[in-house]
Amino acid sequence: MVFSWFIRFLIVMLLVRLVWKFLGGVVEGAARRSEVSPVKGVPLVRDPVCGTYIDQARALTLRRKGEMHYFCSERCRTAFQQDSRARARGH
Ligand SMILES: [Zn+2]
Repeated sequence: MVFSWFIRFLIVMLLVRLVWKFLGGVVEGAARRSEVSPVKGVPLVRDPVCGTYIDQARALTLRRKGEMHYFCSERCRTAFQQDSRARARGH
């Protein structure tokens, strides 16, 4: 009978979907647990001195020529200021 074959097919498909969903949840959970990288949705900015990506809310800022620069530490900010000053003197 074609009808019973169809029902069996539907049940198998349903089971496969359930197993797939379960496996997907397990994999996703494991991935989430092992993830150490920053939380999604947090705007990251790049420190131009050392190249580190920092949380914009925690970064030190420096406004220069209307442009905002972000730094991971006071040391990087000072280095950037000194570097741009040295470049300005060179021109
Ligand atoms: Zn830095």
